[in-house]
Amino acid sequence: MKKGFTTSLLHNDRLGKPEHGSLHKPIHTSIAYGYDKAEDLAAVFQSRKKGYAYSRQANPTVGALEDKVTLIEQGVGTVCFGTGMAALAAVFLAFLRQGDHVISSRFLFGNTASQLNTLAQTGVTVTFVDATSVANVEAAIRPETKLVLVETIANPATQIADLKRIGELCHKRGLIYVVDNTLTSPYLFLTTTVQATFSVNSLSKYFGGHGDALGGSVTDTGLFDWSKFPNMYDIYKSTDPKQWALLQLRKKGLRDFGGTLAPEAAHVLSVGSETLALRMDRACHNAQKLAELLAANPKISKVHYPGLPSHPQHALAKELFTKPGALLSFELKNADDTFAVLNRLQLGILSSNLGDSRTLLIPVAQTIFWEMGEQRRAEMGIAESLVRVSVGIEDTEDLLGDFKQALA
Ligand SMILES: *Cc1c(COP(=O)(O)O)cnc(C)c1O
Repeated sequence: MKKGFTTSLLHNDRLGKPEHGSLHKPIHTSIAYGYDKAEDLAAVFQSRKKGYAYSRQANPTVGALEDKVTLIEQGVGTVCFGTGMAALAAVFLAFLRQGDHVISSRFLFGNTASQLNTLAQTGVTVTFVDATSVANVEAAIRPETKLVLVETIANPATQIADLKRIGELCHKRGLIYVVDNTLTSPYLFLTTTVQATFSVNSLSKYFGGHGDALGGSVTDTGLFDWSKFPNMYDIYKSTDPKQWALLQLRKKGLRDFGGTLAPEAAHVLSVGSETLALRMDRACHNAQKLAELLAANPKISKVHYPGLPSHPQHALAKELFTKPGALLSFELKNADDTFAVLNRLQLGILSSNLGDSRTLLIPVAQTIFWEMGEQRRAEMGIAESLVRVSVGIEDTEDLLGDFKQALA
């Protein structure tokens, strides 16, 4: 019988029959693995046999986490990385070549935008478009376009990409479709429903959920026909084309560039993920209540939250996601009061992270989006007085009470 989301996560390690019947996959710290027979060692190196060679490219504890991500993303397989940024970089470096073109949503996590700008210095060109409409993506396609990148809910202004139609377009045109699922997590959204090629997660955020370990993942959904993709290396064309991209990602993206996830962090993330659904339910509930409270406050000029009917993609969020997420942002009518209001909060913590179990706030233009300058911020829909709130799992009344007193 097919098990539910949390049941499957909780019992997945055990099904792999770990040592001594331990309920968690143990933390394997060995960097290297020994073989009795040279033939076996050679077979592992040539990917003819399952096994471990060197922990930069595969490790049993990290492997158990990869299995969990694959399970809840309902994909073919997953490669984990030391951070979400390493995961994204690995996709670009493993599947793009000189002269290729990338189309990216312009509403993007700041460091991802910065990474793409760096990539654009190396012989790959990048076009940023307003991906809330598929027409903008279609108009940007060139003969050398290979890949389209979008986020599900963009951070910090919560724009939602035209996920389904972009998926149809990419499918029709043979383009790799990368969907960063971090803000929704596989609990709120399955990227397979919009025909994504790769589902990318920063595991540092909701997946791990406690702000105590960094990690990233790339899941191959199995929906892309790799046998038709020109940038595959012959050496990775194993018997099953469904495995080609995962192998190339592991070898080119992880082994060669070394953005490896430590087994200790993999364990922490794995344990954190057991409560993903419980935390998400509570955080989304809190976010909805807080968004409504802020929207009704006369001192607030704007609230961005997909769960509010005023959000431009409210209907789309309802259609695609089980819940509208736990991230919101707002602007004060009197922008000069912003820092004073933030300083009055007692529970909400001024911090740059998101997806923690605690509520975290940050004025974005002065911090995480400061480096890119005012013009680029304006293009991304980021007002100078915008405050991002990553809503946590505190008791709802405590959280609302804190915002009420800070705004009084
Ligand atoms: C945080 C984040 C990343 C980067 O993840 P790290 O684990 O911090 O490197 C990528 N995309 C989105 C949407 C994020 O929120």
